[in-house]
This record gives sequence, structure tokens and C-alpha cells, in this order.
Amino acid sequence: MSWRNWGGTASCEPTVLARPETEADLRELVASSVDAGDTVRIVGSGHSFTGLVPTDDVLLSLERFTGVVAVDRDAEEVTVRAGTTLATLNRELADHGLAMANLGDIDRQTIAGAVGTGTHGTGLDFGTLSSQVVGCRLVTADGSVHELDADGDSTLFEAARVSLGALGVLSTVTLSVVPAYDLRLRREARPLDAVLTDVDRYHTDHDQWEFFWFPHTDTALVKTYDRKPAGTGDPGTGRFDTLGDRVENAAWETICRVGTHAPVTAPTGAKLAAATLSDKTEVGPSYEVFANAREVRFSEMEYGVPADEVVPVVRRIRAIADGDRHVQFPVEVRFVGGDQPLLSPAHARDSAFVAVHTYHRKAYREYFDRCEAVFREFGGRPHWGKLHTADAATLAERYPRWDAFQSVRRELDPDGAFLNEHLRDVFGVE
Ligand SMILES: Cc1cc2nc3c(=O)[nH]c(=O)nc-3n(C[C@H](O)[C@H](O)[C@H](O)COP(=O)(O)OP(=O)(O)OC[C@H]3O[C@@H](n4cnc5c(N)ncnc54)[C@H](O)[C@@H]3O)c2cc1C
Repeated sequence: MSWRNWGGTASCEPTVLARPETEADLRELVASSVDAGDTVRIVGSGHSFTGLVPTDDVLLSLERFTGVVAVDRDAEEVTVRAGTTLATLNRELADHGLAMANLGDIDRQTIAGAVGTGTHGTGLDFGTLSSQVVGCRLVTADGSVHELDADGDSTLFEAARVSLGALGVLSTVTLSVVPAYDLRLRREARPLDAVLTDVDRYHTDHDQWEFFWFPHTDTALVKTYDRKPAGTGDPGTGRFDTLGDRVENAAWETICRVGTHAPVTAPTGAKLAAATLSDKTEVGPSYEVFANAREVRFSEMEYGVPADEVVPVVRRIRAIADGDRHVQFPVEVRFVGGDQPLLSPAHARDSAFVAVHTYHRKAYREYFDRCEAVFREFGGRPHWGKLHTADAATLAERYPRWDAFQSVRRELDPDGAFLNEHLRDVFGVE
């Protein structure tokens, strides 16, 4: 049996692919696998680029353990089985007149996978998706269940909210949600320098915003989001998986393929993509507006740096990308408010997240290495699900509560049953 992630950057051949349907089965599976000395890894939708998932032993998927368990409209909280995808959860929330307070740019991830790596959207008023977790049930190596929330052991709770599947298996997750809302999304092409000059104004004038800069051009696509009462837009109008979007994806795939076979055309491809951008405004249900179709596969590195360093960091990345004729994919810049989970890349720090990409058929190492050096210079913390080479020593310097997380991990998983090769590097375990 073989497994491969979405981006094609990680794969494995586990002996067992386990798909429990109940929490009792899950507990039994974990305990017996750990007793047998197996390495247990958990997979969500496989949308992480790093080697978080691979194992030669037991790969555990919660794809049969899904759905909403409870909705508390008064408390604005929802409890969901951990294998549920964001797409399913969003639709169920909408049926109850509720929504996630913020989302990233796709909805394919499972809820446990998304919070497991500190997945984020954009907006300084919002932390990572993990900061929306108000409770969870965690099955640990001995098969026991820990019911965690902010009223209990706060270190354990903050460790579990971003835990890379290294503490055990999240069985259910309780999220704080908000009344359903619409979003007005404005897409506008502007010169990058003007965008960088206006960073503070964008923060003030809009609820949320982000931008994509197209290498080898002066053009940035700015996306601003403003919240409106539910029902302002028409359901469906904010969706991007429309025919137009599929055509755009297909055109971009062609440009990327040509740029891979004939690298000399890569800058032209980026220029072409930038030249065809058109200003556009849409209003629709929040979860439809946030979610994009990403049909062109890529490799990605993303680092969070202090939010007030965004301009120098983007200028340095621009110089690298403009000087490399292989670079074609846009550079994406988002903002995340400081939050509390011990391993959240936005832990206690308002952050700008800067992401670089290459088409999946292209080599990424050289470009990413040069970008990573810049991110590190600015105190960057890697997105756990996106390619990076940070080791335990570097990470310990970046995370003020690193030792606290390590203590929790050693206590809950003393024999390292949940550690694979990648996590041993990350946590500095022999
Ligand atoms: C096209 C694309 C778009 C993306 N957009 C964004 C974005 O907008 N913002 C952003 O921040 N990131 C983004 N990402 C990254 C993505 O959100 C993260 O990598 C996320 O962790 C993937 O979730 P998944 O369900 O695929 O989990 P996987 O990648 O399968 O697993 C992620 C981690 O969660 C752990 N895990 C999974 N289930 C459980 C469980 N039940 N209990 C304990 N641990 C568990 C796994 O062991 C692993 O460590 C994107 C990735 C892709 C490919």
C-alpha cells in the first residue's frame, strides 16, 4: 500500500492503513500499535508538504470518523469529529446559521489536519485556525483519552492546539464559531511598491487583506475582504470553482508546463498571468468566498515573520525571485494576529506570512534555500505543513514555549511512538 501527499513531496508505504469508525476502535488501535512497537502517524487530507505523515508502520486516517457531534448555538461552539473536512464543516455550520470566524484559502483539509499545523487565513484581528479551538479529545499512546479545554491544564491545552500529530490522535475538536456572515471580496491589480507603501492603510481600511506579487513584474494582486450581514450577496456568487475559475486554472497549468520545459519562458509566463488580471468584486457567504480551487499542483515554503518587517522581507524575496529565471509562481503575503498555542507560528506575535511556490514538476530547493535564509534573518518561523529545513536548535530559539511543548510531548509519548524521521529532526530526538 502506498501513500503520497497532494504536492508529491512526501510518500510512504505503511504496513497498515487503519481507518477506525469509532473512538473506541481508535483507542484500541493506538494502544495495540504502540504496544507492538510500531510508529503511528496520522493523516488528514494529505495537504501538508513536509514529511509529517510518512511511516513504514501504522498510518491512521479518520476519514471514516467524520461529522458534527454537537452544535451549541447560544455558546457559539461546535464539536466535530476530527476527520471532517473544512468543506463539510462549513456547509453544516451554514445550515445552523453559523460560520468559522476565519479560514485559509482552500477547504479540502480535515479539521484536525488544519489545526495540527497551525493553518491560517489572513487578517491581524485573527489568530491561526488553531486559536479557534476551545476544546478537544486527545487519544494518547496508551489509548487513554484526555479531554482538554482552557479551564483545565492550560499548558497541555495550548500544546494540543498545534501538535503536529506528535502528542496523540485528536478524536473530536470543539471550535468557537460566529454567526454566519457574507464577505465582500475586491480583487485589484496594483504596483507592488504602492501596495508596500499602503500596508498600514490596508490594515485600517479593510477587515482582512492579502496580496500576491507576480515575479518579473511590478504587479501585485490585492484581495481585500469586508464583512457584511449574511444574505447580502447571493449564494454561489462568491464561489471560485466556477467555469471561469477552471479555465484560469487550466491556462495557468499550461503556462507552468511550458515554463518547466523551456525555463527561458518562465518570466514571460509570470508576466502574462499578471497582465491578464482584472479587477473584480464579489459578495457571497464567507466560506464560499474564502475557498479557492487550487488545481495546479505546486511545492510551497511559507514563513511567518514579525508583521512590521513585511516590507523589507518582501523586497528581499523580490530581489531573489526577479533574479531567478525559473521562478514563475506568485509570492503570497498574508497577516495573522498573535495567538497562544505553544507551537503556533504566530505564537504571541503579530505576523506576516510570506509564501513562495514552484510548479510541482520543477526543482524548488535552490530558490527555497535562498528565501529561507532571508526568512531566518528576520526571525521567521516556518509553517509546519510547508517545506522548511529548520532543525530543533533553530526552532527552540524561535518559540518561547518550545521546552514546555517538549515536556508535554515526552510525558504523553515517552517512547516516541508518534515520531517519524521528520519529527525526530524537528524535535531533535535521536
Ligand atoms: C493547495 C493548498 C492550499 C493550502 N492553503 C493553506 C492556507 O490557506 N493556509 C495555511 O495556513 N495552510 C494552507 N495549506 C497547508 C495546509 O492547511 C496544512 O498543511 C494542513 O495541515 C493540511 O491539513 P490536512 O488535513 O491535509 O492534514 P495532513 O497534511 O494530512 O496532516 C497535517 C498534520 O496534522 C496531523 N493530523 C491529522 N489528523 C490528525 C488527528 N486526528 N489527530 C492528530 N493529528 C492529526 C498529521 O499527523 C500531520 O502532522 C495549504 C496546502 C495546500 C496543498
